[in-house]
Amino acid sequence: MNFSAHNLAFTPNRIFCIGKNYSEHIKELGGTQIPEEPVVFMKPVCNIVAPGETLHLPSFGNELHHEAEVVLLIGKEGKNILKADALSYISAITLGLDLTLRDVQNKLKKAGLPWELSKSFEQSAPLGIFKDYSPKKIDLDNLFFSCSVNGNLRQKGNTREMIFPIANLIQALSNWWTLKPGDVIFTGTPAGVAPLQPGDKIEVESPVIGSFSWSLASA
Ligand code: ZN
Repeated sequence: MNFSAHNLAFTPNRIFCIGKNYSEHIKELGGTQIPEEPVVFMKPVCNIVAPGETLHLPSFGNELHHEAEVVLLIGKEGKNILKADALSYISAITLGLDLTLRDVQNKLKKAGLPWELSKSFEQSAPLGIFKDYSPKKIDLDNLFFSCSVNGNLRQKGNTREMIFPIANLIQALSNWWTLKPGDVIFTGTPAGVAPLQPGDKIEVESPVIGSFSWSLASA
């Protein structure tokens, strides 16, 4: 089995992921608190999986959840970016899956431990093909997207439901890190996350971006 990242049309620098950015998703996981600032974690770029590649269930978790998300590609370097300028730092957008081992994550959360085992395992970042972004053509504050499994709708979201809109995310991240070309940002998932079963076909779709799918190897 070869888990290496595919030949990408861009050189990835880092993968930032935003947690808890849709209130209905916070509720479905039993949470009550809306974060006061964006929740950030990271995945290694080698975990990127191209559309059409086969995913494999990690051996150390039981509940592999799909989290469909809008994903941004940063196109130029920036630090302490102003909200009004934030969208000009995005060169392309796509959809991706922030795959999560929910049972492992719950255990880690309870123990107050880091999330890596539940979020940063091999193949944890299926990523669609990036589409060039221009603020004039695409409204990132009103972007519909969905996720279905074996043809059944599981998640639908719109970026206007985000707790921290995309411009705010870029502003916050750039206060903490110098954003660089090749930085990839997963922007959080709406409600409807659920476990995947061996053999499942997962599809993410947005009329503006396109659709991408992955299959989970059968047991
Ligand atoms: Zn997520």
